[in-house]
Amino acid sequence: MESIAARRQRLLGPNLPTFYDEPVHLVRGEGVWVWDADGRRYLDCYNNVPHVGHAHPAVVAAVAEQTAKLATHSRYLDETLLDYVEALVATFASPLDCALLTCSGSEANDVALRMAQAATGSTGVIATDHTYHGNTALVSQLSKAKTPIGGHAANVRHVPAPDCLREPRSDSADGEAAFATAVRAACEDLRRSGHGVAALIVCPYFANEGFPTLTPGFLQAAAAAVRDFGGLLIADEVQSGFGRTGESLWGHDRANVLPDIVTLGKPMGNGYPVAGVVTSADIMGEFRERYRYFNTFAGNPVAASAAHAVLRVLDEERLVENADSVGNYARAGLRELQRRHPVIGNVRGSGLFFGAEMLIDGDPARPATEFTARVAEAMRANGVLLNRLGIHYNTLKIRPPMPFSRANADRLLETLDRVLGELAPA
Ligand code: PMP
Repeated sequence: MESIAARRQRLLGPNLPTFYDEPVHLVRGEGVWVWDADGRRYLDCYNNVPHVGHAHPAVVAAVAEQTAKLATHSRYLDETLLDYVEALVATFASPLDCALLTCSGSEANDVALRMAQAATGSTGVIATDHTYHGNTALVSQLSKAKTPIGGHAANVRHVPAPDCLREPRSDSADGEAAFATAVRAACEDLRRSGHGVAALIVCPYFANEGFPTLTPGFLQAAAAAVRDFGGLLIADEVQSGFGRTGESLWGHDRANVLPDIVTLGKPMGNGYPVAGVVTSADIMGEFRERYRYFNTFAGNPVAASAAHAVLRVLDEERLVENADSVGNYARAGLRELQRRHPVIGNVRGSGLFFGAEMLIDGDPARPATEFTARVAEAMRANGVLLNRLGIHYNTLKIRPPMPFSRANADRLLETLDRVLGELAPA
């Protein structure tokens, strides 16, 4: 009989990766747990889309009720959307008072870049050299993982991604200054080349860069540099938003900066495809004047209902506080493990987005990349789903649904302890 993997390749085409050497065939989820087709249960320490928990009944009900009532688009008067946007923008500081919904984080970033270009009249964009902001033609120019056909666009500049273990360390004044200097140099270059500066786009948590520890004001001087050149700061909160990092609802609050534009996605609808862009009325107005933008599905009443349910559950179940306290507890546990397993070079993160960078002999010049891949595989074999990321792909990425408990953290830590005891770094 044809395997699911073979069927997948036949129907979806080649070169389509899965997680794990032995891919997991998931059929059901509830809270922080998922089950495979053989009835095996896994602790989900990876998925941030089911933000308030897999199959949360309040979100399921919101989607079902609204689908049963009306599913149109945003060109009719619809208070479902307005009620949601009102609740959403109330969580942002002034002047971030307006929102536009999209269907994906990529699309949100695409719109954000065009907003910045409309508002500044310039086209230059700056991003880090180890980032991912999505996959539209415009946004994929920001990623260096694969060179775009024809090379990177002339209006894009990359600055070195922050790193807290290698010089200049991002948790030091030197690292903060080096980042700002690189951004300023990119601005000067964009001005010289005639593109001018539209925006610096960064995840305020630098999630895809491996969430390095930062100085408290790490982004401030870089933002000031961009603004000196007439550009805007776009905070990509697709990963860091909705309380993930525990200390506040938004990663930019934690980073002590006020962006001009914020993009949202992944956890926003707990799995229902909804993403968005939050900005000021002025910038939104400039965008609407320069671009004709409409999207059939974005901001439809079902999407708005799903997203509104997520905001309510976050509040009612005090999940941001939970992220903070369970995250701290889990990191303390990881530090305990570090005493027994020297391959754990650095424990870091915030809220329920944390991990450990693996190093051979504690040497930042020797990232334990292959070992970290084996750890992720072994954790999966032991019923815990997590993965790895970072500049050297040697950092365990732990980012569970927000109702993750201390008991769940204990299970994660016990399993990791066992796996690290069994595997020896090469
Ligand atoms: N921004 C960031 C920071 C992301 O991590 C991602 C997805 N991993 C995106 C944007 C793109 O979002 P989407 O997959 O919804 O297009």
